[in-house]
Amino acid sequence: MCPGGVVTASASEKGGVVTNGMSFHERDLENANSAVVVSINPEDFGGEENPLAGIEFQREFERKAFELGGSNYHAPVQLFKDFKEKRVSTAFGDIYPTYRPGATFANLWECLPAYVCESLSEGITAFGKWLDNYDRGDAVLTGVETRTSSPLRITRDDDLQSNVRGIYPCGEGSGYAGGIMSAAIDGLKVAEQIIKTYKTMDKTDK
Ligand SMILES: Cc1cc2nc3c(=O)[nH]c(=O)nc-3n(C[C@H](O)[C@H](O)[C@H](O)COP(=O)(O)OP(=O)(O)OC[C@H]3O[C@@H](n4cnc5c(N)ncnc54)[C@H](O)[C@@H]3O)c2cc1C
Repeated sequence: MCPGGVVTASASEKGGVVTNGMSFHERDLENANSAVVVSINPEDFGGEENPLAGIEFQREFERKAFELGGSNYHAPVQLFKDFKEKRVSTAFGDIYPTYRPGATFANLWECLPAYVCESLSEGITAFGKWLDNYDRGDAVLTGVETRTSSPLRITRDDDLQSNVRGIYPCGEGSGYAGGIMSAAIDGLKVAEQIIKTYKTMDKTDK
């Protein structure tokens, strides 16, 4: 949840739209934004065979979002009441998107797998039971946040090294974190392991 924040453009490839969220220090802007995350497993995108299948899976929906947004890096948006009915919205209610450079009304079911949309619809409705107005009809969904965590993992052994000795895969890009805190903790874990490894080597050398 980014209180008083914005939905930001986070694409890293031509012809793709990717969103993320952030708040400026004041956290005083009009909207409260949150990413609603749906778990995707390797079997959902054939990741058992091809280690890069997850990246292709992300790209597919980022490109669809780009096209649905108007192929001009605008993001596709939909009001929650219309999302539940799979129909394109025609006007905003009290809430306006903060995504720049712009937003285009679209049916987000066309740029996300149906099982993801079903989970989003159920999840947002369920959150609405705990958080007043979370599932209000004019809440704006802006798509697509596909980079919540890395779709691949570089394997590492018990002393956190990869099969290339001396390489310590860590953090989000290597598939061991999904967010600032978990990345920092994983970085600390690897640093501690490196100290331990080289301390042991020091002792054995003497
Ligand atoms: C717009 C946006 C908003 C976000 N908001 C939040 C939030 O509110 N809360 C939250 O918890 N997380 C948020 N995240 C996610 C968070 O930023 C990441 O999870 C976190 O930064 C991962 O840390 P990391 O150290 O693993 O990787 P990174 O922070 O990605 O660091 C990797 C570093 O490696 C450098 N690098 C890459 N390739 C090379 C190379 N070949 N040689 C040398 N250096 C290289 C990169 O320049 C980068 O500095 C957000 C992400 C984005 C994009």
